[in-house]
Amino acid sequence: MALAWRHLRRAFHLETSSLRILKTYPSLSCASRTPASKLTFHTKPEMPSCDFSPERYQSLAYSHILEIHKQHLSPVRTAYFQKPLLLHQGHMEWLFDSDGNRYLDFFSGIVTVSVGHCHPKVNAVAQEQMERLWHTSSIFFHPQMHEYAEKLSALLPEPLKVIFLVNSGSEANDLAMVMARAYSKKTDIISFRGAYHGCSPYTLGLSNVGSFKMELPSGMGCHSTMCPDVFRGPWGGSYCRDSPVQTIRKCSCVPDCCQAKEQYIEQFKDTLNTCVAKSIAGFFAEPIQGVNGVVQYPKGFLKEVFELVRERGGVCIADEVQTGFGRLGSHFWGFQTQDVMPDIVTMAKGIGNGFPMAAVVTTSEIAKSLANCLLHFNTFGGSPLACAIGSAVLEVIKEENMQENSQEVGTYMLLKFANLRDEFDIIGDVRGKGLMVGIEMVQDKRSRRPLPLKEVNQIHEDCKDMGLIMGRGGPFSQTFRIMPPMCVTKPEVDFAVEVFRSVLIQHMERRAK
Ligand code: PMP
Repeated sequence: MALAWRHLRRAFHLETSSLRILKTYPSLSCASRTPASKLTFHTKPEMPSCDFSPERYQSLAYSHILEIHKQHLSPVRTAYFQKPLLLHQGHMEWLFDSDGNRYLDFFSGIVTVSVGHCHPKVNAVAQEQMERLWHTSSIFFHPQMHEYAEKLSALLPEPLKVIFLVNSGSEANDLAMVMARAYSKKTDIISFRGAYHGCSPYTLGLSNVGSFKMELPSGMGCHSTMCPDVFRGPWGGSYCRDSPVQTIRKCSCVPDCCQAKEQYIEQFKDTLNTCVAKSIAGFFAEPIQGVNGVVQYPKGFLKEVFELVRERGGVCIADEVQTGFGRLGSHFWGFQTQDVMPDIVTMAKGIGNGFPMAAVVTTSEIAKSLANCLLHFNTFGGSPLACAIGSAVLEVIKEENMQENSQEVGTYMLLKFANLRDEFDIIGDVRGKGLMVGIEMVQDKRSRRPLPLKEVNQIHEDCKDMGLIMGRGGPFSQTFRIMPPMCVTKPEVDFAVEVFRSVLIQHMERRAK
């Protein structure tokens, strides 16, 4: 209770200076509460302005949408929130629902809207290309594909210069698996526990997320290894991560000598010695894990692992589906932040700002091994429309300094959320890099046990009600994932942090009762 009071007093002092008290938060209407809660002030942080007005929603009624969904769409529930949002329009970092409510989008349609919803330049290029030519398939040439291949390859270091264009992250990773096996003439592939690399029958073997596993034969030759998670895993300390924010765990390491890294390397060696054949096909890793809750490995870990994999004849695959295209700020690609050189890089999501496209980039040697063993063909991959959009996305990232913005605004955001971590015992960890941020919720810092799902769901729901959309991740869905479009600004970050803070104050109040 004392803690809740401290938060409330601070909240009132801080927030009244910069924020307008708009209304009493509905779920906390005072009438039915204890006397203490009658004295609290519930503030709704004021949303930064937006100069865009959405059209009036004139499509299907919500009840009709629900009915159609029930009758005709996948029974697997993927939509967030008790009453899923019916979204209607988007503009840069903003989303509008069918009732005209505005939301700050801090998840970008799962890290996909890289340069902003309906970015005017990308839209204009798409419209122009739609008037000219949509589709040919790769049995013909068209300049958009060649222009795009030249632009994308210029962003990758030698010898990563050969590009295969496909349509989704799963397809890209499927192809990378085939390539690794065709090139090495071996079968075994290793990936981390907690990793998500796709949901196709082939990539399901790589994705080690319990909820995606089925009682069906899959994953032949795929093996999992311990994820070097320096917050939740057995080892981790105060210097492990390439992030402005370190874990709350203490260690006796000195910079550049990470004991946690050594321990996790031993685990990887154990996997090599016990689970796979003498020679392997490859190893897949995201530079920072997305679905697993923005998990960062100890610095230098991937570099050593790449060496171990190559000693066994395997190729190293960087899955840049979430980390690529400047999101991490300091570098354009996530693998560059780890100082490693992959043999194959896969990319999707942000590559098309929401248009379905993806790519696999590799060396000419590995690419040739594929050409030697099969005819690879993809009807839609590299369509004129996709390539024109992909080119426009690359231009916008450069022209509008979005990588630099990710670095500056992302670092600002990480430090602000780290202050909240110090304030609330239920925030166990704040981590990430650039505009890829994770906030792991715990029962308390000492135990690091995950905050129960019901509580995390409520916090998530409350943030949405205050106009902030975030994602979720981690094995217990305990981590909030924040990956806004890369055009996001500092005042918008301030708003998000205030929303999160107000919601946590309410949460502490609920808990204290
Ligand atoms: N790799 C990673 C790292 C991902 O996050 C995802 C999607 N969440 C995929 C691959 C699969 O991409 P898609 O859904 O486009 O098949």
